[in-house]
Amino acid sequence: MASVSYPYEAPVSQTLFDRASVVTPGGVNSPVRAFRAVGGTPRFMVSGSGPYLTDADGREYVDLVCSWGPMILGHSHPEVIAAVQAAVSRGTSFGTPGEGEVALAEEMVARIEPLEQVRLVSSGTEATMSAIRLARGFTGRTKVIKFAGCYHGHVDALLAAAGSGVATFGLPDTPGVTGAQAGDTIVLPYNDLEAVHAAFHAHPGEIACVITEASPGNMGVVPPLPGFNAGLKAACAQNGALFISDEVMTGFRVSRAGWYGIDGVKPDLMTFGKVMGGGFPAAAFGGRADVMAHLAPAGPVYQAGTLSGNPIATAAGLAQLRLLDEAAYERVDAVSAEISGLVGEALTKEGVAHRLQTASNMFSVFFTDTAVTNYDEAKKQEAFRFNAFFHSMLSQGVYLPPSAFESWFVSTAHDAAAIERVAAALPAAARAAAGATEEGK
Ligand code: PLP
Repeated sequence: MASVSYPYEAPVSQTLFDRASVVTPGGVNSPVRAFRAVGGTPRFMVSGSGPYLTDADGREYVDLVCSWGPMILGHSHPEVIAAVQAAVSRGTSFGTPGEGEVALAEEMVARIEPLEQVRLVSSGTEATMSAIRLARGFTGRTKVIKFAGCYHGHVDALLAAAGSGVATFGLPDTPGVTGAQAGDTIVLPYNDLEAVHAAFHAHPGEIACVITEASPGNMGVVPPLPGFNAGLKAACAQNGALFISDEVMTGFRVSRAGWYGIDGVKPDLMTFGKVMGGGFPAAAFGGRADVMAHLAPAGPVYQAGTLSGNPIATAAGLAQLRLLDEAAYERVDAVSAEISGLVGEALTKEGVAHRLQTASNMFSVFFTDTAVTNYDEAKKQEAFRFNAFFHSMLSQGVYLPPSAFESWFVSTAHDAAAIERVAAALPAAARAAAGATEEGK
């Protein structure tokens, strides 16, 4: 990576990373955090406040990752923290039903019309894994259609041609996933309805479900072309399969009712995570009541979890959702439009070929001059330019996702001062991107 310089050291983070690398594979608990794609020392964060993170070396950053989506109100929002403190003071886990889970489920169901019932789990991975199992149990069929570049967590059957870390590291497949586990997964190009129709034609009566990111953010931001989600829904309905919309990333982030609130296409099942947990491990899947009725103990499809509906996580999630009114989404949308606009201006000024792609308030930059509508097109970008851009921003106190294949996230807490810091860092970062070369990558 000769074209990328690391303008300053992070000695305390480096020491922590060295320690971590002894006891944890690769030194991290989730791969993209390790900075392998961009190089350099991952920053170990010690605190967050509003739009800022502070690392172990005492440096402050404007955070444009927001914990990969959940922190839509910024860090340490006083009302979320107060709800958590109140919940903690009553105990941390009971292994019984509790009112908090009912209230969170009611809030979700009230916001999203196709969501008639929900089951709470602890991670987005669990949500999609369980939704697929339920779809198979409900239809009595085995095959699943997914799209290249979409990431649905590290579910064995869904790791084929996945986005996020799998895209960042260019992994073709994951050792440890057996042929049997992946054999029932049909991977198709994103935004290609013809391919979906052909797959249904080739496998009559075998396809249990189509799962798609409601609007993908895990290959960078690649929104569905007009009519794509509606076409998926129609193809599923015609062929007796379920349409599963994965809203783990978009749910309660891109609007009050997530991506459903934007395109209005009614899924049979939906999955959620991130924002609904308020920074704690809470996720969910849900949808049509007649389908959900097949889930244990109401029905025969088994699914369970020791910490599902945990009282601290549900208190945090509920507090966050209750603060997310229309005004909050207007604010996040405005921040996103302003920052993405500034990024575009800076890159244009330096003559750097790029595409800013947005899906409501999610956005990312592709270092290419053509529109990106699927994973193959996403992979054609000049990712080495992103790496130079990333390190320049980092050195100036702006924390971006450490990969060219991820969405950027902002919050209601990104005020004029935070945006000004981003604006001040952009000219040098754009120059670094312009001057980057592929050699030594
Ligand atoms: N689905 C989507 C669309 C995601 O973006 C993610 C995580 O980024 C997941 C599922 C998996 O969620 P988790 O990381 O909570 O397991």
